[in-house]
Amino acid sequence: MAVKVDQEKCIGCGMCENLCPEGFEMKEGTAQVKNETADCVEEAISSCPAGAITKE
Ligand code: SF4
Repeated sequence: MAVKVDQEKCIGCGMCENLCPEGFEMKEGTAQVKNETADCVEEAISSCPAGAITKE
């Protein structure tokens, strides 16, 4: 399982970092995956307004 943030889709709202600081961090205006095994990652995926976070 790999969690990814599509840098083209991410609108930089910061919601994933707010919901899941263990899993995501903001860098230069977009979100980066910090720890894809954090428990809160799923919640961030379903809450991202841009649908930019995927898990495959
Ligand atoms: S919630 Fe989605 S759009 Fe917002 S910063 Fe995170 S990845 Fe980007």
